[in-house]
Amino acid sequence: MNAEDGLVAIAREVGACTRCPLYESRTRVVPGEGPSDARVLIIGEGPGYNEDREGRPFVGAAGQNLQALLTLAGLKREGVFITNIVKCRPPGNRRPAKSEADECYPYLRRQIELINPEVVVLLGDTALKQFFPGSSLGEMHGRPVTRSGRSYFPTYHPASMIYNRTLKAVLDEDFAALGRLLLALAG
Ligand code: URA
Repeated sequence: MNAEDGLVAIAREVGACTRCPLYESRTRVVPGEGPSDARVLIIGEGPGYNEDREGRPFVGAAGQNLQALLTLAGLKREGVFITNIVKCRPPGNRRPAKSEADECYPYLRRQIELINPEVVVLLGDTALKQFFPGSSLGEMHGRPVTRSGRSYFPTYHPASMIYNRTLKAVLDEDFAALGRLLLALAG
């Protein structure tokens, strides 16, 4: 099965998923979107109110911030694959429970295998901890970590700058560094 068909199959499975309690309160699932051969995969935390209604990731306020940050890295939204740790909205936008993230993780792992991105951008603590348990965003943000031949790039969540304006400068710097990393990897 090619990557595109594989991603469609995953989206269909997610649409029927009842593996964790989040399915009970979702309006729509949000499997993720983007090209099946994207160089960059962006991973957020989970769908919010707007994403749950539209079935698409990062379409609300955090999405506007993400769009601006991608531009700083020299990226276009249409050129990257965007998804989340959990594919259904946690009620009230609470953080997903570890059990919910773990139940959803196999879908994400298969998405990564199919897309085979050069760089996986981890937005915020939930995404970071799923891949690097026990690690600290304060220490790891803005620098790539290589694991199994792939670069992981942790940074803050774009929603965090809505509540904490000082993080805007940090996010701007991190995404500029992401842009430099992509240039260096392209050789
Ligand atoms: N926040 C996320 O982590 N993901 C979305 O899709 C939207 C907001």
